[in-house]
Amino acid sequence: MSPPISRSRAPIIRPPPRAPEATRPPPPEVARREVDGFEPAGTSSRPLSRLERRPEVQALPETTRARIHGLETDASRAEVNQLTQLVTARGFGQLAPERQAEMLDVFSRHPDRRTTRSLTHLADNRAFRESEPGAQTAAIREAAIPPRLRADALTVLNTTTPERVTVNGVPIDVFGASPGELETITHTLERLPPEHLRAIPRIVVADTIGHGNADSGGAWVAESAVRHYERGAPEIAAGYTADGWRNLPRLEFSRESLSREEVMESHVSNTVLHETGHAVDARYDLTRGVTQDDLGNVRYGGSHTDGSDPRGPVTERFADAYMSYYLGGFDRRDPAAFRTVEEALGRVPRSP
Ligand SMILES: [Zn+2]
Repeated sequence: MSPPISRSRAPIIRPPPRAPEATRPPPPEVARREVDGFEPAGTSSRPLSRLERRPEVQALPETTRARIHGLETDASRAEVNQLTQLVTARGFGQLAPERQAEMLDVFSRHPDRRTTRSLTHLADNRAFRESEPGAQTAAIREAAIPPRLRADALTVLNTTTPERVTVNGVPIDVFGASPGELETITHTLERLPPEHLRAIPRIVVADTIGHGNADSGGAWVAESAVRHYERGAPEIAAGYTADGWRNLPRLEFSRESLSREEVMESHVSNTVLHETGHAVDARYDLTRGVTQDDLGNVRYGGSHTDGSDPRGPVTERFADAYMSYYLGGFDRRDPAAFRTVEEALGRVPRSP
């Protein structure tokens, strides 16, 4: 049975409706507090918690501090640690009190590490802080979606209609991208010649990539990798094939990789260049004959290491060198790797 095809470009999976607010007693009337741990005489003499004594917390608006106090009172030790990370984040104090309240709302329903990380990442992101209040609210709610409900790239591939973009004359289907993400992808790919762009099978942007295993970075899913997934994780493959979903070769980009502060400012994505480097390498067999010594000082810092070399596998180092080549300014820093990339790219046929 085929899944329904959504006409919208957004994933079909939506955040769950907002849970009704737990009924909490109204926050206590909190007066200005002293650093010595006790409230000034005349109000209650409740000692301040360690969290409340933090200068970052004391600098927050009254309503936010009251809410933090309420949350802290009910929280486990682990949850207090998470709460502390959130409310002492560099960007949290710079948000409007309404956004702080929304973040604490989300935290109260999902006081876990993943949600805390998502919220802290948002608060510390300048592009987020400078976006419209409505967009901020939407992004904060998005952070509350539990991992199992977050849309993986394969889900997005099968449940959304692609946007077809034409870059340097080459049409490319992009699934699941927001207008801003689409702009970053096309703006980045414009740096590449048509014969490289033709190596891109299709692009999927999603909350998670690699069958839900990662919520950051990107992935190149080749024909061979599709088969690898099916061998390596039969239960996943069975789940998808039972739905009749197509497991097609693709470049996957996590939303995280396209929403980093520097990416949002420049509209150029390292991740897009690195993953495209893999696709171009595979299509034109560019790393054949390339040895570890040919790649100069390039050190691969990602997760696809095989332990064969502390600098990373040749294909990963090559993808990073490809990325640096198209970011520019690479030749002066690393002439050996630069030469290797130049020579390899010279083998790409001009009109395939
Ligand atoms: Zn890679």
